[in-house]
Amino acid sequence: MTNALLATDALLPSGWAKNVLLAWDEAGQLTQVQPDAQPAAGVPTVRGPVIPGMPNLHSHAFQRAIAGLTEFRGEAQDSFWSWRTLMYRFAARLDPAQLEAIAFGLYVEMLEAGYTAVCEFHYVHHDIDGRPYADDATLALALLRAAQRAGIGLTLLPVLYQTSGFGGLPPHEGQRRFIRTTDSMLGLLERLKPLCAAQGARLGLAPHSLRAVPPEGLREALAGLQAIDATAPIHIHIAEQTKEVDDCVAWSGQRPVAWLLDHAPVDARWCLVHATHMDADEYRRAAASGAVAGLCPTTEANLGDGIFDLPAWRAAGGAWGLGSDSHICVNAAEELMLLEYSQRLATRTRNVAASETQPQVAAAMTLAAVHGGAQAAGRAIGRLAHGQQADFVVLDAAHPALAGLGAPEMLSSHVFASHRTSAIDAVWVAGRARVQAGRHLLHDSATAGFVAARSELLTP
Ligand SMILES: [Zn+2]
Repeated sequence: MTNALLATDALLPSGWAKNVLLAWDEAGQLTQVQPDAQPAAGVPTVRGPVIPGMPNLHSHAFQRAIAGLTEFRGEAQDSFWSWRTLMYRFAARLDPAQLEAIAFGLYVEMLEAGYTAVCEFHYVHHDIDGRPYADDATLALALLRAAQRAGIGLTLLPVLYQTSGFGGLPPHEGQRRFIRTTDSMLGLLERLKPLCAAQGARLGLAPHSLRAVPPEGLREALAGLQAIDATAPIHIHIAEQTKEVDDCVAWSGQRPVAWLLDHAPVDARWCLVHATHMDADEYRRAAASGAVAGLCPTTEANLGDGIFDLPAWRAAGGAWGLGSDSHICVNAAEELMLLEYSQRLATRTRNVAASETQPQVAAAMTLAAVHGGAQAAGRAIGRLAHGQQADFVVLDAAHPALAGLGAPEMLSSHVFASHRTSAIDAVWVAGRARVQAGRHLLHDSATAGFVAARSELLTP
């Protein structure tokens, strides 16, 4: 048996198990997950704890190149909106080769940081002057190639963007590369469908937000998507900023999440990205819809968005996952840590995300985020179990923060005590080792390409 290994410790859906035989087929799908297995000839033993790979449910790849460039005061009251001005300036210059180089560098970095899949919320569609490329899918193809070269699982979410504010405000000049009619979006999805299928990527749709897609555009796009793939994932930015909530109330008399739940068929296909500002009724109703809350802790902290009420969401039975969004941080463990810490600061309690069945907070959060992230990705990557893809991470048992501890404490130390170093040894996607000894096999070329593209973009 070649497609197999024996994990001394592995985090299964029910918790930690010992001597777990993991075996997979040629397609990289798990065919056996067997605890208490005996060593067998030709099956290597892995001594670091094995945890399921983390799906990254929200990414704008090109924004990795501006991480760290907006950390200075531009206005007396700096906010999301002043950050966005700088991001738009950058987006206006990006070319397809630069996007591919940045995305490739980012996806390699994600794999090294424990993410084995990414949902790419892709909104820069057109050429620099705002006209469609001769091949309308040019920039989407750059992302598909980057994901394939890096070996990360992909859910591609082309973004529908039509207006600059609630009530159908016309788009402005800085948004010219994003704007599409509903028909042109559906045409793009038709073009991308076989290309995604060919590399095992999932195709979905992202109506950008209620401020960027008017009700009729939303309705028509969802009907069109239904005809293309009735189970495709649907992601939307929602209730990230209090200004967005105020503007939505002024426009419709309703808060954004309440409006969406009343006007769209929100269900388990949906990912509500951020959903930071909900009232008690919205927490209850949105969780009951089956949608995943797409939490992006470091980006939300970086942009000063606010704090998601995780206890309210969990009490209502809501699913959630993690996104690195603007990529101010590319590290799944740090996202988990900040999410838990924001809850501790808000509630003045500890181990908020632990549960009765899983008292170890790092394990509880990992299992929840992998499960919710997989649902948002629309792919079978939600746990170490038969029929799921063989996506997993091997922690570095020799890392100073982990060495000599038991497996549950190693995961706790990975999440809460290993910063800013990596306690990841290996990362496998679809049964292939993409990261070994902490480094992606293409680390050097990916990093060099990323740095060169960023330098080009920063040259006046
Ligand atoms: Zn976003």
